[in-house]
Amino acid sequence: KSGFVALIGRPNVGKSTLLNEVLGQKVAIMSDKAQTTRNRIQGVYTEERGQIVFIDTPGIHKPKHRLGDFMMKIAQTTLGEVDVVLFLVDAKEGKGRGDLFIMDRLKNVNTPVFLVVNKIDEVHPDDLFLLIDEYRKEFDFTEVIPVSALYGNNTNTLLDQVFHYL
Ligand code: GDP
Ligand code: MG
Repeated sequence: KSGFVALIGRPNVGKSTLLNEVLGQKVAIMSDKAQTTRNRIQGVYTEERGQIVFIDTPGIHKPKHRLGDFMMKIAQTTLGEVDVVLFLVDAKEGKGRGDLFIMDRLKNVNTPVFLVVNKIDEVHPDDLFLLIDEYRKEFDFTEVIPVSALYGNNTNTLLDQVFHYL
């Protein structure tokens, strides 16, 4: 099996940390400053089950300059063409405007979207369940997977589920 996965989420939710954890080396660019109009391959995960190509879609975030609309179109095309979209959110920060903006863009996309709730090491389980409910009100996620990218908690489950959809 092999396929493409778009990892999206507002700044600081832990996208780079998750990639580093999954790929096992410092391959992800740790800065969001170098935004390009093209989608970039951030890393390739390979194992016995197959290969997952992680790609970045910079335009999905709130536009900050004139290229915003153009980038957003490219981003949305990309999200429609990948096998799985991982929408990463921050369990500690909770649902913010940045998240709502992204979920709005996801509504026109037919690709399976996983809600990946990161930083679960920072929250009480009761609060985590409430937060997941909050997100589920906004969007019909294909899967919901709580993880801690920093400590590698439940990232194997995430990979299992991704392979399921390739
Ligand atoms: P990105 O902007 O989405 O790429 O976010 P980063 O990967 O750069 O992470 C932003 C900050 O969140 C860094 O200080 C990370 O160490 C921290 N972080 C990422 N994942 C976790 C996690 O699972 N738990 C905790 N406590 N912190 C995390
Ligand atoms: Mg990053």
